[in-house]
Amino acid sequence: MNVSDPVVSLTGVGPALEAKLAQLSIVSIGDLLMHWPRKYEDYSSVTLATNIQPGLVTLCGWFEQISSRYVRRGMHVTQAVLRDASGAVNVVWFNQPYRAAAIKPGKTYYVAGEYKLQSGRFAVLSPALEQADSLPLHSARIVPIYRETKGLTSKQIRELVGQALERVALPSITLPQWLTAEAKLLPHDVATKELHFPTSAEQLNLARRRMAFEEVFALSLASQLIRREQRLEKALPVPFKPPLAKRFVESLPFTLTNDQRAAAWQIYQDMAKDQPMNRLLEGDVGSGKTAVAAMAALMALAAGHQVAYLAPTELLARQQADSLTKLLATQGYDHAVTLLVGSLKPAQKKRAQDAAKSGQAGLVVGTHALLQEKVDWHRLGLIIVDEQHRFGVAQRQALMKKAGHMPHVLSLTATPIPRSLALTLYGELDLSLLKTKPAGRQTIITELVSPNSTQKLYDTLLQQIDAGGQVYVVCPLITDSTLLQAESAEAVYDKLRKGPLKSARIGLLHGKLKAVDKQAVMADFVAGKLDVIVSTTVIEVGVDVPNATTMVIMSPERFGLAQLHQLRGRVGRGIVQSYCYLLLSDSKAPSRRLRALESSSDGFRLSELDLEIRGPGAIYGYAQHGALDLRLANLSDTALIALAQKMATKFIEKKEVLLQYESLAANVRAAQAVTNLN
Ligand code: ADP
Ligand code: MG
Repeated sequence: MNVSDPVVSLTGVGPALEAKLAQLSIVSIGDLLMHWPRKYEDYSSVTLATNIQPGLVTLCGWFEQISSRYVRRGMHVTQAVLRDASGAVNVVWFNQPYRAAAIKPGKTYYVAGEYKLQSGRFAVLSPALEQADSLPLHSARIVPIYRETKGLTSKQIRELVGQALERVALPSITLPQWLTAEAKLLPHDVATKELHFPTSAEQLNLARRRMAFEEVFALSLASQLIRREQRLEKALPVPFKPPLAKRFVESLPFTLTNDQRAAAWQIYQDMAKDQPMNRLLEGDVGSGKTAVAAMAALMALAAGHQVAYLAPTELLARQQADSLTKLLATQGYDHAVTLLVGSLKPAQKKRAQDAAKSGQAGLVVGTHALLQEKVDWHRLGLIIVDEQHRFGVAQRQALMKKAGHMPHVLSLTATPIPRSLALTLYGELDLSLLKTKPAGRQTIITELVSPNSTQKLYDTLLQQIDAGGQVYVVCPLITDSTLLQAESAEAVYDKLRKGPLKSARIGLLHGKLKAVDKQAVMADFVAGKLDVIVSTTVIEVGVDVPNATTMVIMSPERFGLAQLHQLRGRVGRGIVQSYCYLLLSDSKAPSRRLRALESSSDGFRLSELDLEIRGPGAIYGYAQHGALDLRLANLSDTALIALAQKMATKFIEKKEVLLQYESLAANVRAAQAVTNLN
C-alpha cells in the first residue's frame, strides 16, 4: 500500500466513510497520515484499582457483574465492575447497548476514560476498551485526539491511522541524509508514527520539530530558488545621482527620518544594478512611505525611465497622484504625472494610454487594472505597488515578456509583517523598515466603549465637531445583513442623521457607490463641507485628511487587529490630539485583541500579536490558497526558521536535485504557487 492510494483501499472504508473523510480533506492515505492530532490525552501509565483518583485513567483488568438495561426511554445503561489484582472499580457506559455482549468473559482489557462522580457514586464513564493482548491504540498510552466531523469520531480516525501505519510503506527519506543529520531531525517515518502514537512526550516533541522543519524548509527553499532566478534577470539600471537626491530632500517641507533616509539609500543601491530590485518597504501608517517612493520615482525619471504606481483603489490612486505631483513639482517633474483609472472618460483614458506608450507620461498612477489592461509602455523601469497586493512572479514575467527587461519593483505595505513571517514567506524580497515615526507625531487616544455608553459617545463627537474636528465612523458592512450581526454603514448613516448627530453634516461612503459619487463625498470631506463620514473600510489605506481627529469603529470585533490599527491610522495626521473609539457590540469582556489595540500603538508589535492569535493564513489571506499549509510550524520559533533558511542555502549550494525528494518538491511547488498568485 502506498501513501498516494485512496482511503477506500483501507479495510472498513466504503463510500459513506470515504465521503466523511473527504469532508476533512482526507482523500488519500497520505492525507490521512497528515491529519495530525489536534491534541493528546495521556493514558500512558496504567493505574491499579486501589490507587485510582478522579481524572483520566487507564486500568487493566477483567470484567465482572455486567448488567445492561434501559433505565427509561432513550437512556440505556451498561454497568460493570472491573477487577485487577489490587481491587475493583465501577464502570458505566451510557447508550452503548452493544457493550455487554461485546465484552468477552475472562479476557483482560485496557480501560481508558474519566473516573468521576456520577449520580452519587464514582465510576469510570463510557471508557474506551481494548483487549490487552493487542497493541493498544485507544488506551494505556498517549492517545491522539483528531479533528472530527459529523459521523466520524476521533476513535474511528485513530483506528484508520493505526491501520494505515501498519500497512503503508512510509518514505523514510524526504530530505537528504546529510541534512537530517546536521539539523538533528528524527527520520520522517519515525516522526509520522510518533506524531500519531507518541511513545513519550519527548519523542512527540522531536517528531513535531521534524515535521515543522519540513514545512518551513519547503517555504525557505521556494523563496531562495525564486531569488536565484531573479538574479538572472536583467533590469534597466538607474544611476544614482546624489545632487538630485540632495536637492529633492532639501525641497521637502520636513526633515526625513533616519529610516526614510536609509530606505531611500537602499533603493538607490538596488536600482543602480542591472538586476531587478525586489524590495518591500514596510512602515506603519503615517511613517512616510510616499516620500520614499517619490525619491525612487524621481531617480528613475531622471534616468529617462517610466514609473508605474499602483494603488489598491481609485480613491487612493487619485490622492497619491496629487501627492506625488506636489512632491515632484519642485524638481520639474509634475507634468510627468498621469492618472490612469477605470472611471476616466474614454477620451481621457485614450490620452493617458497614448502618453504611456509614447513615453510622454513618465509616472503613471493607477489601480492594479493598469497592468491588466492593455497599456503599452515606452520604457517601464520601475513599478511601485502601494498596499495590499504584492507583485507576483507571474505578473513580473508577463511584463518582462512585453518589455524585454524586468522592471525594478518596490512594494509598500502598512501591514508590518513580522520578521519571522517575512523570512519564511518573503525570503525572495529585500526589506526596508520605517520604524521611527516622523517627529511630532501624536499618540492616538484609543478607548473601548461599551454599548451602554453610546449617548455619552455621541455627546463627545458633537463637542469635537463643534471644535472644528471631523469624524470617521467605520462599519464592517455596507447594508444590513440577516446573517451577520454587525453594524452596516447604511443603517448607521440613517440613524445618526435622523437622531444623535442631527445637527452635523454627514456623508456616506462605501464600495458600492459609483466612483464619481465616492470622489464627491471624499472631496467634500477633504474640503470641510462634511463633519462626519460614515463608511466601510474603503477609507482603510492611505487616505490623508489631517483635520479628521476622531474615528469611531462600529462592531470592532469584526475586524482583524492589523486592520483596526490601519484604520486608526486615518486619524492623528495633524497636530490636534486625535481619538479612536471602538464601540463594542455587547457588554461582554472585550477580547485580548481589542485590549491590545487600546494599550499599544506600535504596528509591528500588534502584527506580531495578531500572528500569534490568528495565525498567518487569517492575516495574510494565504490560507485560502491552501498552500501556506503550516500545520505544525510555529512562526515564533525563530531558531527553527533560521535553521531552515541555512539548510535551504546549503541544499542549493550542494546542487541537490529537488526532484529526488518527491514530497519536498511538491511542497516547494505549492509555496511558489502562492508567490505566483499574488
Ligand atoms: P504612509 O507611510 O502611511 O503612506 P504618508 O507617506 O502618507 O504615510 O505620510 C503621512 C504624512 O506624513 C504625510 O502628510 C507626509 O507629508 C508626512 N511626512 C512624511 N515624512 C515625514 C517626515 N519625515 N516628517 C514629517 N512629516 C512627514
Ligand atoms: Mg501610503
